[in-house]
Amino acid sequence: MNQTSIIEFIRDTYKTNDFIPLHAPTFSGNEQAYVLKTLESTFVSSIGHFVDQFEHQIAAYTGSQKVVATTNGTAALHTALYIANVQRDDLVITQALTFVATCNVLHHMGAKPIFVDVSPISLGLCPKAVDAYLTDNALLTKTGCIHKQSRQPIRAVLPMHTFGHPVELDELSTVCQKWHLTLVEDAAESLGSFYKTKHTGTIGDFGAISFNGNKIITTGGGGAVLCKTTVTGDRAKHITTTAKTAHAYEFFHDEAAFNYRMPNLNAALGCAQMEVLKQHLKQKRSLASHYYNFFKNSDYQFVLEPHYAQSNYWLNAVICPSKEARNDLLKHTNDANVMTRPIWQLMHHLPMYQDALRGDLPNSEHFATHLVNLPSSPVVL
Ligand SMILES: *Cc1c(COP(=O)(O)O)cnc(C)c1O
Repeated sequence: MNQTSIIEFIRDTYKTNDFIPLHAPTFSGNEQAYVLKTLESTFVSSIGHFVDQFEHQIAAYTGSQKVVATTNGTAALHTALYIANVQRDDLVITQALTFVATCNVLHHMGAKPIFVDVSPISLGLCPKAVDAYLTDNALLTKTGCIHKQSRQPIRAVLPMHTFGHPVELDELSTVCQKWHLTLVEDAAESLGSFYKTKHTGTIGDFGAISFNGNKIITTGGGGAVLCKTTVTGDRAKHITTTAKTAHAYEFFHDEAAFNYRMPNLNAALGCAQMEVLKQHLKQKRSLASHYYNFFKNSDYQFVLEPHYAQSNYWLNAVICPSKEARNDLLKHTNDANVMTRPIWQLMHHLPMYQDALRGDLPNSEHFATHLVNLPSSPVVL
C-alpha cells in the first residue's frame, strides 16, 4: 500500500477534489431555526430555555444524574476537578498522551499531573499501569493517598477517552477505590461512546464533555459536566453561575466562583445538533469500518474500538509501520490537500510539563511516533 492509494481512497470516500478537513461540523437540521429564535427572543446570553433543554437532552442521552452546560470543555473539566476537591500542590494521575487542556486545568489550579502510560487497547490511561505506579510510589494514610517521596496528596485519577475510545473503566474504578482516589473522566472527545452499557463520563464521579467545533457535535464553543449525584450536580450549577443565591433582586454570592455558564445562543445550536447525533454516530461507524476494510491487509493498523466498548469513532486513526512511514503519510496527504495529523506531542515534551512526575511510558511513546489521524467528518457512503 502506498501514499497515493491512501489519498485516492480518502478522495473517493469524500467524493471531492477540494480540501478535505480532519473533522468539519455539519448543520443540516434545525440549527438555523433555533439560533434565529434566540436572536428574535433577545435571550442570547446566560438566561434562556435552550440551556435547560440542552442539559436535559444530554442527561437523557447519557443517563447522567445531572448535567451542567459550560462555556467550553476546559471549563467543564475545571468545574469537575474543583468539586472533586483538587487543591494547590495536589497531584493528579493522568495521561501524557492527551490534548494539552487536560493538563492546563491542573496547572491553573496549582496542582500537578503525574503521567502514567496508556493501554494499547484503548489508547487511554491503563489501569494496570496506574496501580503499578501507585504501588511503587504511593502510600495510603489516614488522610488519603500520598506520594511517598514528596508527601504531596494524590487526589484524583483523570483518564481521557482518546478519539472517543473508552478506557477500561471498571478496572480504573477498582484502582481508584483501592487508593481512595476520585475518578474524573475527560470525556471531551467521547459523546456517543459507551463503556459496556454505560455512557462515558457517567462511570466516574464526574465527566467533562466538549462541544468545540471539531468535536462530534458542536455548540460553537461549549462543554458540559456530567455529575454522578444531584448534590454534586447542584454544586456544579452553583459554582458555574457565580455562586449567586436565589433571590428576586438581591445580589448575594456565597463563595468566589466562576462564570462558566453556556450562553443560550450556543445551547440553541446544541439542541439542534443533539437531534442529529445518532445519525452522525451511524455515519461515523460506517466510515470507520470502511477505513478498517481498506487497511485490513496492509502494514498500517487501523485503530478499532476496544472489545468492551462502543466508540463514537470521533477521529479515525492508523498506526504506521515506522516513524518514517508516519512522516511520509503526513507529508503526502497534507501536500495533496487531504488533512491528516499526528497525535499530540506527549505532555512531558512540552516546556511547562517537562518536570512532571511520570512512570514508564512505552505505549505512549509508540503511539506518539507512529499514529496518524485520518479525515473523519461524517459522510454518507
Ligand atoms: C477538546 C478537548 C478538550 C477541551 O475542550 P474545549 O471545549 O476546547 O475547551 C479537553 N480535553 C480533550 C481531550 C479534548 O479533546
